[in-house]
Amino acid sequence: MSQRLALARRLVQEQAPYWSSALHGFVYVAVKGCKTMFVTAKGVLGYDPEFVDREDEADVACGLAHEIVHFLLGHPARRQHREPRLWNKAADLATNDLLLRAKWPLPEWFLFPDSFGLPAACSAEVYYDQLTARGADAHDAPKKPGDGDQARSSSEATAKQLASPKPHRGPPAIPGGGCCGGISGAPYRQEIEEELDREHARSASARERLRRQVAVQIREHVKTAGHGSVPADLVEWAHVELTPRLPTWQEELSSAIAASVGRIRSGATDYSLRRPSRRSLLRGVLRPGLVDWAPEVAFVIDTSGSMTLPLFQKAMQEAARIARVMDLDEVWLAQADAVLARPFARVSPRSLVGNLRISGRGGTDFRPALARAHQLEPFPDLVVYFTDGDGAAPVEPPKFQVVWCLIGEHTRRPAAWGRPVWVADSPHS
Ligand SMILES: [Zn+2]
Repeated sequence: MSQRLALARRLVQEQAPYWSSALHGFVYVAVKGCKTMFVTAKGVLGYDPEFVDREDEADVACGLAHEIVHFLLGHPARRQHREPRLWNKAADLATNDLLLRAKWPLPEWFLFPDSFGLPAACSAEVYYDQLTARGADAHDAPKKPGDGDQARSSSEATAKQLASPKPHRGPPAIPGGGCCGGISGAPYRQEIEEELDREHARSASARERLRRQVAVQIREHVKTAGHGSVPADLVEWAHVELTPRLPTWQEELSSAIAASVGRIRSGATDYSLRRPSRRSLLRGVLRPGLVDWAPEVAFVIDTSGSMTLPLFQKAMQEAARIARVMDLDEVWLAQADAVLARPFARVSPRSLVGNLRISGRGGTDFRPALARAHQLEPFPDLVVYFTDGDGAAPVEPPKFQVVWCLIGEHTRRPAAWGRPVWVADSPHS
């Protein structure tokens, strides 16, 4: 390993000993001629020895710390549908802000919320929404006096423009400045990274284990060195990490709901300036980045003939669980087969469990309930439709977000729009 890199690793170890599992968990591979340093989505750190030896070891240490935070916060998986390069930038703002508050001596060419006029202490999702709202300008380096930058009309911004990586001006394309490798959710050197991953990748379970080890190390460090010895964000992260996980499909459902709700509110004026609540993060249901506010949710349960009593019960239990974790006092509830079998009513989440009165038992048509939902007052932000079977869905997407909760053996999403989640039969699958 390059001597400069070894020195940098020692600096990281000294400043944040609780990161050692991640620091030593990356697979370090010299990639001559790549002119930079990056980490792949699967934990392989590629570096050009010449490049690393030219840099100051304190800067390289900050680069390593930066990549570790991407890794811990799971930025690749959190990108979801978002444009990769802009997501990298948003994730960098969140990451560097955290490092800055943890008193890391970051190089000035790192990206900071402040330089974009954005508030501190937000998640990558929130920064992404902010940057998106600015259009093409968001992809430029922050404006500095005398930068001589050519402002572009944000109205001309397209996803394609945002997607095309531009050559770096000034700061080198290394971690912290918007080019961090697949670990940020946006592989910059796709082919090199794929090749490295083929040979050296840490498996998903190994990466999971490393994250968990770091969480344990953080918890232990706080116990021995006291509160304040680890940045508060990381203590919070470790707590969430060590909280028991939901089964996969429930995680998916949560993330689908969070994404849907996030999409509704991203245009709202004050949404993106608020922080996600600690409680919603700790509950493990609302994903990081989702602000804790109460959306209007409507549940529709498919009561066609194929919905057995156990499936119906499962749907009601899930609806109750969603309402509970979202802290909703009241929700809309309807039953529908080929028609609206039981009209929308305001119910308390408590009343969902044990409510086994099924109306309907005919065929399946998703249109009547969705059409009726458009007339509800209060208007739903989100409709969660529980169904097990094929049926006719509107061609045009409704004016609210829809999550299709597909239960039983069903394997096809009812429409091209909306977010499908396949609910497994076993609570442990
Ligand atoms: Zn980064």
